[in-house]
Amino acid sequence: MTRVLVLNASYEPLHIVDYRRAVSLLVGNKVEIVEPGNGRVIASATHRIVVPSVIKLRRYVNVPQRHATWSRHSVLVRDHFTCQYCGTRLTEREATIDHVVPQWKCKATGQPANTWTNTVTACKRCQTRKGGRALHEAGMHFHDPAFEPRRPRTRYLVLSSDIVPEWRRYIEI
Ligand SMILES: [Zn+2]
Repeated sequence: MTRVLVLNASYEPLHIVDYRRAVSLLVGNKVEIVEPGNGRVIASATHRIVVPSVIKLRRYVNVPQRHATWSRHSVLVRDHFTCQYCGTRLTEREATIDHVVPQWKCKATGQPANTWTNTVTACKRCQTRKGGRALHEAGMHFHDPAFEPRRPRTRYLVLSSDIVPEWRRYIEI
Protein backbone atom coordinates (compact mmCIF):
# COMPACT_ATOMS: atom_id res chain seq x y z
CA MET A 1 0.00 0.00 0.00
CA THR A 2 1.35 3.42 -0.90
CA ARG A 3 1.40 5.73 2.05
CA VAL A 4 1.43 9.49 1.86
CA LEU A 5 2.80 11.93 4.42
CA VAL A 6 0.42 14.78 5.19
CA LEU A 7 1.91 18.11 6.28
CA ASN A 8 0.09 20.99 7.85
CA ALA A 9 0.11 24.26 5.89
CA SER A 10 3.10 25.12 8.10
CA TYR A 11 4.98 22.04 6.78
CA GLU A 12 4.69 20.36 10.15
CA PRO A 13 4.11 16.62 9.71
CA LEU A 14 0.61 15.64 10.80
CA HIS A 15 -0.05 12.09 9.84
CA ILE A 16 0.20 9.34 7.29
CA VAL A 17 -2.67 8.34 5.06
CA ASP A 18 -3.10 5.73 2.38
CA TYR A 19 -2.98 6.84 -1.23
CA ARG A 20 -6.74 6.65 -1.70
CA ARG A 21 -7.28 9.18 1.05
CA ALA A 22 -4.52 11.36 -0.40
CA VAL A 23 -6.10 11.26 -3.84
CA SER A 24 -9.50 12.19 -2.45
CA LEU A 25 -7.93 15.15 -0.63
CA LEU A 26 -6.28 16.21 -3.89
CA VAL A 27 -9.49 15.88 -5.86
CA GLY A 28 -11.27 17.90 -3.18
CA ASN A 29 -8.58 20.58 -3.55
CA LYS A 30 -7.84 20.40 0.15
CA VAL A 31 -4.14 19.73 -0.34
CA GLU A 32 -1.32 20.42 -2.74
CA ILE A 33 1.51 18.12 -3.76
CA VAL A 34 4.84 18.79 -2.08
CA GLU A 35 6.73 15.72 -3.27
CA PRO A 36 5.59 13.64 -6.20
CA GLY A 37 5.54 9.91 -5.72
CA ASN A 38 7.18 7.30 -7.88
CA GLY A 39 4.95 7.99 -10.85
CA ARG A 40 2.06 5.74 -9.97
CA VAL A 41 -1.10 7.07 -11.58
CA ILE A 42 -4.68 6.63 -10.55
CA ALA A 43 -7.21 7.06 -13.32
CA SER A 44 -10.92 7.44 -12.90
CA ALA A 45 -13.57 8.48 -15.40
CA THR A 46 -12.85 12.13 -14.74
CA HIS A 47 -9.41 12.35 -13.22
CA ARG A 48 -5.90 11.17 -13.83
CA ILE A 49 -3.88 11.70 -10.70
CA VAL A 50 -0.29 10.96 -9.94
CA VAL A 51 -0.09 9.50 -6.46
CA PRO A 52 2.06 11.86 -4.38
CA SER A 53 4.50 11.00 -1.63
CA VAL A 54 4.05 14.16 0.44
CA ILE A 55 1.07 16.50 0.45
CA LYS A 56 0.39 19.71 2.32
CA LEU A 57 -2.91 21.07 3.57
CA ARG A 58 -3.91 24.31 1.90
CA ARG A 59 -5.35 25.62 5.13
CA TYR A 60 -3.61 25.43 8.47
CA VAL A 61 -5.32 23.19 11.00
CA ASN A 62 -4.83 23.75 14.67
CA VAL A 63 -3.91 20.42 16.21
CA PRO A 64 -4.20 20.08 19.97
CA GLN A 65 -0.81 19.31 21.47
CA ARG A 66 -0.53 15.80 22.78
CA HIS A 67 1.29 15.72 26.03
CA ALA A 68 3.79 13.09 26.91
CA THR A 69 2.59 10.45 29.32
CA TRP A 70 4.26 10.55 32.70
CA SER A 71 6.28 7.57 33.81
CA ARG A 72 9.26 7.03 36.06
CA HIS A 73 11.39 6.06 33.10
CA SER A 74 10.28 9.10 31.06
CA VAL A 75 11.31 11.42 33.89
CA LEU A 76 14.76 9.79 34.00
CA VAL A 77 15.09 10.17 30.24
CA ARG A 78 13.97 13.82 30.37
CA ASP A 79 16.58 14.51 33.05
CA HIS A 80 19.28 12.56 31.19
CA PHE A 81 19.65 10.24 34.19
CA THR A 82 21.15 13.15 36.09
CA CYS A 83 20.33 14.10 39.67
CA GLN A 84 18.55 17.43 39.40
CA TYR A 85 19.97 18.60 42.71
CA CYS A 86 23.67 17.81 42.51
CA GLY A 87 24.17 17.01 38.83
CA THR A 88 25.50 13.46 39.32
CA ARG A 89 24.98 11.07 36.41
CA LEU A 90 23.10 7.96 37.52
CA THR A 91 22.23 4.56 36.19
CA GLU A 92 18.59 3.53 35.92
CA ARG A 93 19.04 1.46 39.08
CA GLU A 94 20.72 4.22 41.09
CA ALA A 95 18.23 6.88 40.12
CA THR A 96 15.20 7.68 42.22
CA ILE A 97 12.26 9.93 41.55
CA ASP A 98 11.96 12.85 43.91
CA HIS A 99 8.65 14.60 44.39
CA VAL A 100 9.27 18.33 44.54
CA VAL A 101 6.17 18.73 46.66
CA PRO A 102 6.32 15.57 48.78
CA GLN A 103 3.79 12.85 48.09
CA TRP A 104 2.26 13.05 51.56
CA LYS A 105 1.64 16.75 51.06
CA CYS A 106 0.10 16.19 47.63
CA LYS A 107 -2.15 13.55 49.13
CA ALA A 108 -3.22 15.91 51.92
CA THR A 109 -4.10 18.66 49.46
CA GLY A 110 -5.60 16.39 46.81
CA GLN A 111 -2.97 17.29 44.19
CA PRO A 112 -1.59 14.65 41.86
CA ALA A 113 2.00 13.83 42.84
CA ASN A 114 3.23 12.07 39.73
CA THR A 115 3.24 14.95 37.29
CA TRP A 116 6.00 16.18 35.04
CA THR A 117 6.56 19.37 36.96
CA ASN A 118 6.45 17.74 40.39
CA THR A 119 8.95 14.99 39.72
CA VAL A 120 12.65 15.04 39.07
CA THR A 121 15.48 12.54 38.91
CA ALA A 122 17.46 12.45 42.14
CA CYS A 123 20.33 10.45 43.57
CA LYS A 124 19.68 8.62 46.82
CA ARG A 125 21.92 11.03 48.72
CA CYS A 126 19.97 14.13 47.67
CA GLN A 127 16.69 12.27 48.13
CA THR A 128 17.69 11.50 51.72
CA ARG A 129 18.91 15.04 52.32
CA LYS A 130 15.64 16.50 51.10
CA GLY A 131 13.60 13.98 53.10
CA GLY A 132 9.88 14.57 53.12
CA ARG A 133 10.29 18.31 52.75
CA ALA A 134 9.40 20.61 49.93
CA LEU A 135 12.29 22.01 47.94
CA HIS A 136 12.46 25.41 49.62
CA GLU A 137 12.07 23.85 53.07
CA ALA A 138 15.13 21.72 52.42
CA GLY A 139 17.03 24.78 51.19
CA MET A 140 17.82 22.96 47.95
CA HIS A 141 17.86 24.14 44.37
CA PHE A 142 17.31 22.58 41.02
CA HIS A 143 20.26 21.92 38.86
CA ASP A 144 17.78 22.21 35.97
CA PRO A 145 14.14 23.17 36.42
CA ALA A 146 11.53 20.46 35.96
CA PHE A 147 9.42 20.83 32.88
CA GLU A 148 6.72 19.05 31.00
CA PRO A 149 8.08 17.75 27.73
CA ARG A 150 5.90 17.80 24.70
CA ARG A 151 5.71 14.65 22.79
CA PRO A 152 7.04 15.44 19.35
CA ARG A 153 4.50 14.41 16.79
CA THR A 154 7.25 13.30 14.48
CA ARG A 155 8.41 10.75 17.02
CA TYR A 156 4.91 9.38 17.03
CA LEU A 157 5.07 9.16 13.24
CA VAL A 158 8.38 7.35 13.39
CA LEU A 159 7.00 4.86 15.85
CA SER A 160 3.86 4.26 13.86
CA SER A 161 5.39 3.68 10.49
CA ASP A 162 8.50 3.28 8.40
CA ILE A 163 9.95 6.45 7.00
CA VAL A 164 10.03 6.76 3.25
CA PRO A 165 13.21 8.52 2.00
CA GLU A 166 11.28 11.45 0.44
CA TRP A 167 9.76 12.19 3.85
CA ARG A 168 13.05 12.67 5.63
CA ARG A 169 13.48 16.34 4.90
CA TYR A 170 10.09 17.03 6.49
CA ILE A 171 10.61 14.91 9.57
CA GLU A 172 13.22 15.32 12.23
CA ILE A 173 14.45 11.93 13.26
ZN1 LIG B 1 22.14 14.28 43.94
